[in-house]
Amino acid sequence: MDPFRFQVEARAGRARVGRLFTPHGAVETPLFMPVGTAGSVKGLMPKDLEAIGSQVLLTNTYHLLLRPGPERVRALGGLHGFAGWKGPWLTDSGGFQVMSLGHMRRIDEEGVVFQSHLDGRLIKLTPERSIAVQEALGADLIMAFDECPPYPSPREYLEASLERTLRWLERSLKAKTRPDQALFGIAQGGTDPELRRRSTLETIRFDLPGYAIGGLAVGEPKEAMFAMVELSTRLLPEDRPRYLMGVGHPEDLVAAMGLGVDLFDCVYPTRTGRFGSALVPEGRLNLKNARFLEDRRPLEEGCDCYTCQTFGRAYLAHLVRAGRCSGGSSSPSTTCATSTASPRPPGRPSARGVTGTSPGSSPGGASAGRCPPGSARPWPPGATGNTTPCRPAPAWGPGKRRLVDRRGDKISPV
Ligand SMILES: [Zn+2]
Repeated sequence: MDPFRFQVEARAGRARVGRLFTPHGAVETPLFMPVGTAGSVKGLMPKDLEAIGSQVLLTNTYHLLLRPGPERVRALGGLHGFAGWKGPWLTDSGGFQVMSLGHMRRIDEEGVVFQSHLDGRLIKLTPERSIAVQEALGADLIMAFDECPPYPSPREYLEASLERTLRWLERSLKAKTRPDQALFGIAQGGTDPELRRRSTLETIRFDLPGYAIGGLAVGEPKEAMFAMVELSTRLLPEDRPRYLMGVGHPEDLVAAMGLGVDLFDCVYPTRTGRFGSALVPEGRLNLKNARFLEDRRPLEEGCDCYTCQTFGRAYLAHLVRAGRCSGGSSSPSTTCATSTASPRPPGRPSARGVTGTSPGSSPGGASAGRCPPGSARPWPPGATGNTTPCRPAPAWGPGKRRLVDRRGDKISPV
C-alpha cells in the first residue's frame, strides 16, 4: 500500500479535515509545522513539541547541507536517527534559503551557485543535488527544487521563473530514487492570476502526492496573497494535501484553512516566543510591557499546556526582562515557556474549530463562514460560506514582514 495516502475526513465549505499517512505515522490535517532550522526547533525539546501537539517537523536543507553535511546525517541514521524527533519530517529544497540569504552568486538553467555563509566556500545546488541531499537526510516529505521570485518581480521574470521551476520539477522527479519519500511540487507565479493558474495547472500534471503553494508571504499585500490562495485551492486536486509555504500568523492560518489549505510552516510562533511575546486567543501578549509584571494569571486562562499550568504572566515577564531567553527546557526560560505556549493557537484544536467537526477553540473564535471578533472588512476573498466576509482582528496584526524574515534566516543565520 502507498505509504503516503491522504484522506479527507470531513468538510465544511472549502475547509477540510484530513489524515496524511507517512512512513513515520499518520498525521491529522490541517496542521502547522514548526521550523527546526538546523534540525532543532530553537529552545524546544522534541518532548515539548509533542506535548503541544506538533506532528511534523520542518528542517532546512540549506542549513544541514552546510553543517553537518548530508552524508554525516545519513551515516547517523538520517534525521530520524540523528535528531530526537521520531515522527514525520519535511525538508525544503534549499532554494528559498539560497536565494534569500543573499550570498547567491549565479542562477541559471542548471541551478544555483552560492557562497556558504559559514566559510565562504562556493556550493552548487541543482534539482539533482537538492534531491540527493534530501534523500540523505531522509525526511518523509521532500520538496522539488524551485525558484521563489522576490516581491515585486516583473511579469517576464515571473513567467521565465515559473517555466524554469517546472523544468526543475521534472528533473527533481527524475533524480528521486527513494520510494519512502513523497515529493511535493511547488506552484509559483507570484501574484499574477494568469501565471499562478498556469503554474498550478502545469504542476498538477505531474500527478504528485502533494502540492505546495509557493512564492507567497514574501511581502505582497494580504489581499493579493489570499486571492492567490483562493485561486490555487480551487485548482488543486481535492484528494492531495495542499501546503501553503511560509505562512504562520494565526489569522492567516484560519483564513487559509477556510479556503482548503492543509499544511503550513513558519518560524513566527516560536520566534515571537523567543523575543518575549506569547500568542493567545485574544492576540499577541508583549511580555516586555510593564503591565504584566504583577499579573498572576496564566498566559491563557483555561489552557492545559505546561506553561499555562505552571507559570504566571508576571514570572514570564520577569524572565523576559532578566534576559533569560536562552537555554533548553530543563529550566524555565522565556524561550521554552512562551514558545511552548505560543504554537498552540495555530495547532490542531484551531483546525477542528474552523471546520466545526469536533469541539475545540480557535484563534479569535473564528469558524467557517464566521468572522473573528474585531473583523472589519472582506476577508478572505472568496471563502466559502463567508457571506459576510471579514478581516482578522487587529490584535493578530502581522506587522512588517520582510522576505528574509519569513523563515528567520537573517535573524539567526547559523
Ligand atoms: Zn498554554
